[in-house]
Amino acid sequence: MKPRVSNGSRSQMEIAQRRLIESLSARIKDQRVIDAMARTPREIFVPPQAQDLAYEDVPVSIGHQQTISQPYIVAMMLAALELQGHETVLEVGTGSGYQAVLLAQLARRVVTVERIAALAKEAEDRIRRLGCRNVRVEVAEGTLGCPRYAPYQGIIVAAAAPTIPQKLLEQVSVGGRMVVPVGGRDEQDLKRVVKLENGFDVVGLGACRFVPLIGEDAWEE
Ligand code: SAH
Repeated sequence: MKPRVSNGSRSQMEIAQRRLIESLSARIKDQRVIDAMARTPREIFVPPQAQDLAYEDVPVSIGHQQTISQPYIVAMMLAALELQGHETVLEVGTGSGYQAVLLAQLARRVVTVERIAALAKEAEDRIRRLGCRNVRVEVAEGTLGCPRYAPYQGIIVAAAAPTIPQKLLEQVSVGGRMVVPVGGRDEQDLKRVVKLENGFDVVGLGACRFVPLIGEDAWEE
């Protein structure tokens, strides 16, 4: 990963980052996830006016009524996929591109799909700037997810669905996993879904709040 670029006070940011990583490593047992977060400059994904929040454990607004998710939730979702490094994974909801850059360090290939073209473009610029070559950014079309490159061994849905989206489950390989917030528009339960030969297994990981997943098999705009 290339060195960070920042306008803020670097030493203060480094202290905040160290504090965040310590706090995450007490709760997240997947060391690969922690290492990827420690290597990734989150300030690049946070707007200039919110730089002081780059290493706080909070979601931050990124415009277009969307947010970069809270670091703890990002870490929890990544850990729940239990990636080894050889997988092809899909992220639904590129947003700022932060989670895609983390996935790029944990899996072999990442496809990330975003419905707001302007966000997809900005995210792709950041991803390239950081030198990540194994991430493909796609602007969402009619179908939920990205069937063109399916099946995926892991799918992360970074927006809230009313029910487990069948269209996405079809894109998971047998034995693969999907992590998805499921529930109402305002509050959801984070679910880990493991696809089996005949059906799927679901485990609840706890309460969370995500922006809505829009479109087919999800919410209306
Ligand atoms: N993972 C992001 C945060 C995502 S916020 C990060 O690390 O910054 C959720 C994103 O999902 C928003 O940008 C929203 O536009 C997008 N989204 C909502 N519905 C979608 C859909 N059906 N397909 C693709 N993206 C969608």
